[in-house]
Amino acid sequence: MAEKQDYYELLGVARDVDAEALKKAFRKKAMQLHPDRNADPDAEEQFKAVNEAYAVLSDPEKRARYDRFGHDAPGGFGGGQGPFGFDPDTVRDVFGGDLFEQLFGAFFRGGRARHGRDLQVPMTVTLDEVARGGDRSVTFTRRGACDTCDGSGAAPGTRPVRCDTCGGMGQVRVRAGFVAMLQACPDCRGQGTRITSPCPACRGAGQVSEEVTLKVPVPPGIATGHKLRLDGEGHAGQDAGLAGDLYVQIEVEPHPFFERRGDDLVCEVPISFPQAALGATIEVPTLDGKARVKVPSGTQSGKTLRLRGKGLPLVRGRGAGDQLVKLQIETPQNLTAKQRELLEAFEDTLEADEGATAAAPRRKGFLEKLKELFD
Ligand SMILES: [Zn+2]
Ligand SMILES: [Zn+2]
Repeated sequence: MAEKQDYYELLGVARDVDAEALKKAFRKKAMQLHPDRNADPDAEEQFKAVNEAYAVLSDPEKRARYDRFGHDAPGGFGGGQGPFGFDPDTVRDVFGGDLFEQLFGAFFRGGRARHGRDLQVPMTVTLDEVARGGDRSVTFTRRGACDTCDGSGAAPGTRPVRCDTCGGMGQVRVRAGFVAMLQACPDCRGQGTRITSPCPACRGAGQVSEEVTLKVPVPPGIATGHKLRLDGEGHAGQDAGLAGDLYVQIEVEPHPFFERRGDDLVCEVPISFPQAALGATIEVPTLDGKARVKVPSGTQSGKTLRLRGKGLPLVRGRGAGDQLVKLQIETPQNLTAKQRELLEAFEDTLEADEGATAAAPRRKGFLEKLKELFD
């Protein structure tokens, strides 16, 4: 276990600090570290530690023992009420009623803060957006805190009153046979408070359905199935609970030309038989517009040309993938009489021995093997 930090150090005060300065230091630290205000995952632990420190140092008897024995004082410092070893009034005194409710209400009512649920919304982006990144807006509906009552559920000008059944603790002791156990109070359903005049806007729920439009930064290189998380933009929490998170699930729209393969883009480009044989400069689509690409003479169908850096940006780090241009030779069809004549003349040249070896080596080899096998 890690060494326990000194209580004075935790609160950032000198050992001879007076009660007033101690109170001030605690107030500042607690506000800063409160889990509702501080997203740092360590904040909650520190918040608890700071509270424990104040619980000891604000009590003259405990402080004297701490000064003398440190953390290992005989008998320890426990035994106080409430979650941090001091009673609610000590803390109420530091923060005043409203702020106390807001910061500590949930803790002292037995930690019933209910966090809001996470929410997931789909978002379709184009391949161009994947290439460039940028902001998109997304509109969705969530449970938000009611503005009229500030989420309390009580009509403006009224406050929830303490539940008499459980004395505000939210729990009642019930007997089951010989055993006594604690159960959520049936009258306030564990809230510790009851609403006598419900807020008209939310009918006492403290939450309303709200439509929100948020700006979502789309990082370059994002892919289908990626999720972007927006902290605290999910459903609202209740009783000082944190709001849930919003997850934006990405779906990349199909593109008329490009198929994505990781960070590379693949496109198929048809070329004519003479272009493949003679070589040509052709136009191909890229995400930056049209580009001119040289097709070498004697290109076979299925050959892939690589355009370096013309693919998609890498999600992490610098650089980009490539664009792969897959050449498909289109066999001429529906020939005119003239075209037929020209092709027949061309084919005749391949029949002659000397033409065939150079112009169509694969077919030449194939025919020879065929001959060996069957003749
Ligand atoms: Zn309301
Ligand atoms: Zn109750």
